[in-house]
Amino acid sequence: MNEKVDRSPARGDFPHPYWCDPGSCGTPNPVPCHLSAPRRVSEDRPGGLVITGQLSSIIDELPDQAPVSVELVIRDPVTGSRGTYLLDRENTLRLHALLGDLAPTVG
Ligand SMILES: [Zn+2]
Repeated sequence: MNEKVDRSPARGDFPHPYWCDPGSCGTPNPVPCHLSAPRRVSEDRPGGLVITGQLSSIIDELPDQAPVSVELVIRDPVTGSRGTYLLDRENTLRLHALLGDLAPTVG
């Protein structure tokens, strides 16, 4: 017997954090998460890096109690390599500080 499996728990009746994007919520990642709308940074040339960031928290926890992380995906269209990183608050702040230190010298 074939059953249609609804893989989008976002349609369920449960609370969402204010930043949750209904179009992204429920995406297995590897477990279903609330996800904000994706924000992308890409180079102005074809084949350039594409970096996507989204807020993420586990659906099974209450929105006001669940830790919120940043899901960062860095993709190189030329090589096909891709890395996905889940950054907690500490690592998000460390990465922010690191880029702030290095950015003025890049170029
Ligand atoms: Zn949600």
